[in-house]
Amino acid sequence: MPRQRGFITTFYTKDFYVTIFNMEKVVLAKYTYEKLCEYFESLGEKKFRANQVFSWIWAKNAKNFSDMTDVKKELREYLSENCQILDCKIKKRQISSDGTIKYLIEYHDGLCAEAVLMRFDNRANLSMCVSSQVGCKMGCKFCATGKNGFKRNLESYEIASQILLAQNDTDLKITNVVFMGQGEPLDNYENVLGALKIINQNLQISIRRITISTCGIVDKIYELANNELVATLAISLHFSNHNQRKEIMPIERKFDLEELKAALIEYNRKTKDRITIEYILIGGLNDSKEAALELIKYLDGIKCNINLIPYNSVNDEFDFKKPDKKDMMRFKYILESAGKKVTIRLERGADIDAACGQLAGKN
Ligand code: SAH
Ligand code: SF4
Repeated sequence: MPRQRGFITTFYTKDFYVTIFNMEKVVLAKYTYEKLCEYFESLGEKKFRANQVFSWIWAKNAKNFSDMTDVKKELREYLSENCQILDCKIKKRQISSDGTIKYLIEYHDGLCAEAVLMRFDNRANLSMCVSSQVGCKMGCKFCATGKNGFKRNLESYEIASQILLAQNDTDLKITNVVFMGQGEPLDNYENVLGALKIINQNLQISIRRITISTCGIVDKIYELANNELVATLAISLHFSNHNQRKEIMPIERKFDLEELKAALIEYNRKTKDRITIEYILIGGLNDSKEAALELIKYLDGIKCNINLIPYNSVNDEFDFKKPDKKDMMRFKYILESAGKKVTIRLERGADIDAACGQLAGKN
């Protein structure tokens, strides 16, 4: 087994030579199964050792190498010295009065993004809302995430690490994943596809229980329709009027409602799946009877379920308000009368700023 990790760098200063040992540990969660096998082979270890460690990391919630009790002691010691399982950690944990847990996760470069764990009563589901980027470039006016600007994309394993950290923290198995944390998943397309694979294959979460939410990056929706793993697609529509949408969601200037509709119809055709239409109800802005009728007209020809989201306060800059209960029920009723399947999203974790649109990486 090699004795030393990393490499040695030597450089000359005015008075003496300085030698730096690079102490960076190998991050095992970065490796695919095949890569992990190669790594173990390079250590002179048999493939079944890689199997054992892979299973401890992804299926058995090992927090550190000493948990891996069926791995021989000498190898465990080598791994503790030279490797780490993850290169991110929970920096802060907040628990809401409704049981929702918001994690602030710190990555190797000090940047942070949230992940939110939600339990819905009477359902055997444990849902995790993951971030796909630190910040977001899309600039929707009702959302707190974009306010601090865009910092960087998260790597595939960094997205999946959010789930591992929460599973390790709670000792529970997560059953559902939604890409509704910080970031626009289709603006980090390749890494999100990689994360889908890890979540499905390594973490063994059914692809039917994974939802990707997008503000409508049309070219990527066409690509997604052809992907081998088909997750549920959710569209942050929010406005079915072009002039209104373009004022509030800048993406409408790049891909307008008509282009989006064509992509959604194609997505329906290709995948045979229904799409979830997300519609934030903002008091006095898009919750009128006329807005409901306009939405019905827009959705004609798209196979979908509609998820109404009462606006969560995040922004004092714009005068957005929560909708009245009465207006919300009227909106729902009009859609249902037209034969649409409609649900109202339960607000979770608002007291700890963990609800939709409230994630801004605040420490
Ligand atoms: N960028 C992706 C996914 C993250 S946002 C997207 O926009 O779809 C997750 C969901 O929260 C989206 O439907 C988004 O529109 C919604 N959201 C953003 N701000 C909100 C707010 N203030 N109140 C309620 N929902 C909000
Ligand atoms: Fe980005 Fe989604 Fe927030 Fe829009 S709603 S700014 S796309 S995270």
